[in-house]
Amino acid sequence: MRITGDQHLIKKINKSIVFETIRQKHPVSRAQISELTNLNKGTVSSLVKELIDDNLVYEIGPGQSSGGRRPVMLLFNHVAGYSIGVDLGVNYILTVLTDLEGNLVREKTTALHDLSFEAIISTLFQSIRTMISQAPDSPRGIVGIGIGVPGIVDETGTILFAPNLGWKNVNLAEMIRDEFHLPVTIHNEANAGAMGEHIFGAGKGVENLVYISVGIGIGTGIIINNALYGGTAGFSGEMGHFVIESHGKKCRCGNRGCWELYASERAFLDQAKSLSAAEAEDGDIDLFIQAANEGNGDVIRLFNQVGEYLGIGLTNIVNTFNPELIIIGNRFAKAEKWISNPIHRVIESRSLPYHRAQLRIAFSSLGTYSTALGASSFAIANFFSDMKISVE
Ligand SMILES: [Zn+2]
Repeated sequence: MRITGDQHLIKKINKSIVFETIRQKHPVSRAQISELTNLNKGTVSSLVKELIDDNLVYEIGPGQSSGGRRPVMLLFNHVAGYSIGVDLGVNYILTVLTDLEGNLVREKTTALHDLSFEAIISTLFQSIRTMISQAPDSPRGIVGIGIGVPGIVDETGTILFAPNLGWKNVNLAEMIRDEFHLPVTIHNEANAGAMGEHIFGAGKGVENLVYISVGIGIGTGIIINNALYGGTAGFSGEMGHFVIESHGKKCRCGNRGCWELYASERAFLDQAKSLSAAEAEDGDIDLFIQAANEGNGDVIRLFNQVGEYLGIGLTNIVNTFNPELIIIGNRFAKAEKWISNPIHRVIESRSLPYHRAQLRIAFSSLGTYSTALGASSFAIANFFSDMKISVE
């Protein structure tokens, strides 16, 4: 019998449908898959056999019976391969290894002291190499590398502009592919963080949310109807550069008075230099949080002031998007205890009452992992969508 191209395509599509059903509904029996997909039992059985041969699915003992013989249940093999997620921060690199369900397996944080391009790339490569070497054995190995970067990224994985790194037109995806010969996905760090929180964190099950990444700069990721809102070219979400002081300080982006100049970790650390506290020497946010916890009034006042500026920008976001949830994440979210009250106070007093009526404000439940886990989830999604399903 001669099989036409159409039949190949149909088989490939059916196999993807069966696989997605197992991935989302597992444990599930062949009969249940047949009911859920309207594919006949013979088709389901032969496709399941292929997925088992591909190591993506495995069988476990009998499940609940509805009267007859108890069926064998099928599970998605979430350790069939592993994915690497990287949060390329301005002063650190956090790299994670996850399984195919996004569960954290290994992690490595490296502080960046030398901010030259060569030093950052060399540290990045080294951290990826470490994760590859520590990955457990698996049939598929490393399925991809996802990176979140603090800048504007185009669809080829080129970083067009990362003001806080001082990078322009860096084809990072190509550099990493050349080095590791693995699929690479690159996203803006706040978009990756929004996805991380939406899939695994405080934004689980929330249809409309805005994720605010407050680190050295401020980035935002917008989820609308469960999908990341990218804008025409994928560049949306640069709310750290909306203006809150019309004649304010000059920003690296070319504008003046940008929100992130007043409400970010850098804004805090810059002003903290004038404090006489010993913590100012190190410029480490953790030490300032500790000083605030120990009752240092100057540090508490500074957190309060930066928190108010955060509230002012968030008021604009509430009035624009009427979101169900705002999630504050990245390093500055660690100061939740000291910035939460001023943020709430400003939003309560300044945003439109209709827009904030159903609003919840949460701090990241993934801590500093939002971007790295989100980046890994993009790499996994890319693997599943690109998965070459072989048709014999
Ligand atoms: Zn700016």
